[in-house]
Amino acid sequence: MQPCYEHIERQRQAYLEELQDLCRIPSVSTDPAHRADMQSAAEWVAERLRRLGAQVQSLNVEGSHPYVSAELGSGERTLLIYDHYDVQPASLSDGWTSEPFEPQVRDGYLYARGVADNKGNLMFRLQAIEAYLQTFGDLPLRVRFFIEGEEEIGSPHLPAFVREYPERVRADGCIWESGRRSDEGIPILELGLRGILYVELRLRAKSRVLHSSWANIVQSPALDLERRLHQAFLSLIDAEGRPFFLRDLVSQPSLADLALLPRIPFDPHVASQEYGLPLLPGLDGVEALRRLFFEPSCTLCGLRVGYTGPGVKTIIPNDASAKIDMRLPPGISPQIALVRMQQHLKQHGFDDIEVQPLVGMHAARTAPDAAIVRAAQKAVQAVYNQAPIIYPLMPASGPMYDLCQAQGTPAVCLGATHPGSSAHGIDENIAIEDYFAMTRTFCHLLREFAQT
Ligand SMILES: [Zn+2]
Repeated sequence: MQPCYEHIERQRQAYLEELQDLCRIPSVSTDPAHRADMQSAAEWVAERLRRLGAQVQSLNVEGSHPYVSAELGSGERTLLIYDHYDVQPASLSDGWTSEPFEPQVRDGYLYARGVADNKGNLMFRLQAIEAYLQTFGDLPLRVRFFIEGEEEIGSPHLPAFVREYPERVRADGCIWESGRRSDEGIPILELGLRGILYVELRLRAKSRVLHSSWANIVQSPALDLERRLHQAFLSLIDAEGRPFFLRDLVSQPSLADLALLPRIPFDPHVASQEYGLPLLPGLDGVEALRRLFFEPSCTLCGLRVGYTGPGVKTIIPNDASAKIDMRLPPGISPQIALVRMQQHLKQHGFDDIEVQPLVGMHAARTAPDAAIVRAAQKAVQAVYNQAPIIYPLMPASGPMYDLCQAQGTPAVCLGATHPGSSAHGIDENIAIEDYFAMTRTFCHLLREFAQT
């Protein structure tokens, strides 16, 4: 691989610059004002893949941002690379040190919105393939890129895309968009992710919205609405925040899964400092990880009564809502979680509360002995001189079930972010050395996956 490394070294500056070019495009998928930027980012990525020599197609399904689908190389094995060109919103006024869409290098880190999630991963994978091609002339396998612009809004059209173009995502293994290293610098392989059900509870009073000048002679429903939603939420969870209505569906992790937990570096004290929140009392590291991966959560994300938007609106309100996020371990589908929650609320006398599902995704799992996992292990070993840390899954969520598991494709996360990358947060960044170490690792992965 030495000549490959040398190519990467020679291109170092050019590779960093093109990553910065992509990060300059404010491809914020949730904001309709950025529609043109979404188009530009998709075209930028498609053009870059064409320069790599790939057959590229921009595809849409009804109402979606463009999907970039590309293919190159040939061989018995097919590797699917899943990434996304969309990013979360960001602005200097959120507290960023520099403009989020003006990438800046400081002390060996590259700062920009999207550089960690997920433009950095997209670019090092692409550049590694280029380095491999420039060095060896040919790829040892077929590579398919599936790059979407809706990951940050819950991939709403991805299942429809997979139904319409199944051959464009068919593969023997998939490298998932995310991926990070530990504090100690050891890459982490995550073999799946939790599912999610995100709902809005809606409650409306019998009264209509009234001008607030009448407020001192009528009874406002505002505080009753707030109290009722609050009580409904409290009825859902036990003292440790676990959802009652999913309790009997939680299955024990396998012995093989349990055996992975003590090898994962996790210090509750350090974690608590990192999160800026105390951990639940009495949790040791292994128990915390067991809950994190294999139990559901139920979180109140926000509670609103009446008008809380910008500026002034002088009303006596008549409605309230709460947003609730549930992370679901393998074995609990978003559909069953929704039905269980509705039943629970009804049984506890809250049948006036409407439950509106907003996002639902299945959990996904990859077997630890899948070829893509073994190839990733070997690739990490070759570059870092040590074995990767293996997480049975990641506590976050994504469309891995629809894109991979439902097609029988094992998927694994292997990427260039670090614990302080601040994805979705302010001063999002990657370490430049991580970026190039991962570029080298990916060159090995191409060969290992073709051979494993
Ligand atoms: Zn994200």
